[in-house]
Amino acid sequence: MRNLLQNPIKQIIVIKVGSHVFSREGRIVPKRIYALATQICELAEHENQLLLVVSGAALAGRDIAGLDRAHYPRQLLRPLAALGQATLIAKCDQIFRRLNQPVGQVLVSRDDFHYRERYLAVKETVQALFKLHVLPIMNENDSIGTAEQSLGDNDNLAAQMAGMLDADLLIILGTVAGFHDGNPRDPASRVIPTVPEITPEIWRQARFKGNRHSRGGMVAKLEAIRRANHCGIPVVLADGREEDILTKIFQGQEIGTLFTASPQRLSLKKRWLAYSTRVAGQLIVDDGTCHALTRRGASLLSSGIIEVQGDFRAKEVVAVQSPTGTEFARGIVNYDHETVRRIAGRNNRELRSDPAGGEYREVVHRENIVLLPKVVKESK
Ligand code: GLU
Repeated sequence: MRNLLQNPIKQIIVIKVGSHVFSREGRIVPKRIYALATQICELAEHENQLLLVVSGAALAGRDIAGLDRAHYPRQLLRPLAALGQATLIAKCDQIFRRLNQPVGQVLVSRDDFHYRERYLAVKETVQALFKLHVLPIMNENDSIGTAEQSLGDNDNLAAQMAGMLDADLLIILGTVAGFHDGNPRDPASRVIPTVPEITPEIWRQARFKGNRHSRGGMVAKLEAIRRANHCGIPVVLADGREEDILTKIFQGQEIGTLFTASPQRLSLKKRWLAYSTRVAGQLIVDDGTCHALTRRGASLLSSGIIEVQGDFRAKEVVAVQSPTGTEFARGIVNYDHETVRRIAGRNNRELRSDPAGGEYREVVHRENIVLLPKVVKESK
């Protein structure tokens, strides 16, 4: 048995449902929605606050449009998502309504996470839905998104929502039984019950291809899981088609794979900074500064900056990189790129004696810096 929310009362739980959980052979199967819906309603009865991230808009749209499953027309993704999302939410609404659970649809795009006011607006909406006992069902607004604008996949969306809501648990339901120690299609491979740390070995085992119709794949899942774990949120990865899957997870049964969270919970603002923002530039710093930032939690001063990349304004988010180009932190910069270029590599004493110089504060204040976990991916 697992010691995981064994008493699931008053918990915040984000559940991501992959495209193939609610569908068979490229078609939405209402029975599958119903099976999860009954378990979700049961959990909601115990004052748990649940949020669903449901994929399958593009898949449903393709089916309604009668397009060939084998030749997926990527350029039609947006209109197909518009078509399919309507059906997907209508089916969910119908089924949950029968179970006396009203649902609310929230569609988001990447900018809704990047801009702090919009991020907080999403949070406010979801929390208001919780208060109204409405189940929020989210998806990316694929009908208007562009590739650069995309959140990437719904695993990422679900991880960001879990971080935003300070969830107690994130559950990712797909069509594999968990995280395998080899190719999931190989009968000799086994599900790993608990992953306490995402090691290079785990990254290597994640390389097996995802499904054709979902964007994610195991690497994307692992990336999302790593983010949630870093925020302090445990993640269970399991097969959403398995009978009573949610009930079993909440009973503490050892089902699927549990990725345990980092013991420290990252502050809410730092979660946003680390995982929801887009960086506008890069500051490459010397080794001493890397050390001061990572070991001592220091602010980033001009003297430690070796190179400035990109055009950014004051208050935008920049990546902080080591001399070898590894991004190890993110922060909100106090000056625009021209100013940082001018003062880079110089300390305040030097700058004061320069007629064009002046007095400068930290380039990035320690309060506005978040350290990223080491990504120790195995090289391909
Ligand atoms: N938003 C996509 C859809 O509903 C799915 C993205 C994903 O599977 O990660 O079709």
